[in-house]
Amino acid sequence: MFAFWRRHSRYLLLATPPLLAGCIETDNNFGKVWSGAGQQAALAVSLPANAPSLTNIYYEAPASSGGSKTGEEHLGIDIIAALGTPVIAPASGRVIKTFTEPFYGNNIVIDHGDNEDGVRIHTQYKHLQTQLVSVGDTVVRGQQIGTLGRTGVLSGGLPHLHFEVQLKGRFQRMEPVDPNVYWVNGVGAVTCFDEATDWPDTPFQTTYPVPCGDI
Ligand SMILES: [Zn+2]
Repeated sequence: MFAFWRRHSRYLLLATPPLLAGCIETDNNFGKVWSGAGQQAALAVSLPANAPSLTNIYYEAPASSGGSKTGEEHLGIDIIAALGTPVIAPASGRVIKTFTEPFYGNNIVIDHGDNEDGVRIHTQYKHLQTQLVSVGDTVVRGQQIGTLGRTGVLSGGLPHLHFEVQLKGRFQRMEPVDPNVYWVNGVGAVTCFDEATDWPDTPFQTTYPVPCGDI
């Protein structure tokens, strides 16, 4: 249990409602990027004014901390929006896992195949309220795969989507990387999905995994 706490304590701290009360609301909350105290984002992030806000960005522990993989890291991005907001595929792919576990709640994993360097890419979605796809389903960019929720104890009761991009790394393990590298509009440039655009699928590029609003 202690090891678990060390690994997740920062997340629990950030997700605890009293710390967020007064500055983050789930309704009418667009175009803002928060980062945890003391965290330094590796990449500058620009978020369209009509995109649901980011409450927690990707953060790796600095090498000076011994390269620890525990405690201080957040290896995805958190998008805050109203409970039930559609979660949409950020690129085409195939659903390879749907499962529920105590800490991150309802999960979906999509396999997007190999990138131009032959490296396998997955995306993962946590804290979902509902899962609307099954293992083996193919999905296209913009297709709804579930709804944003607050399942799992780490959600702190605040509805949000934890979104990860993972590349196959050493020892054939899928390892999280900064999702902000892969937006269609360029590194750090969060890109909203819309039906009218003819989106590229290769090399691997993503659109925001929730719809942007009319504001
Ligand atoms: Zn998260």
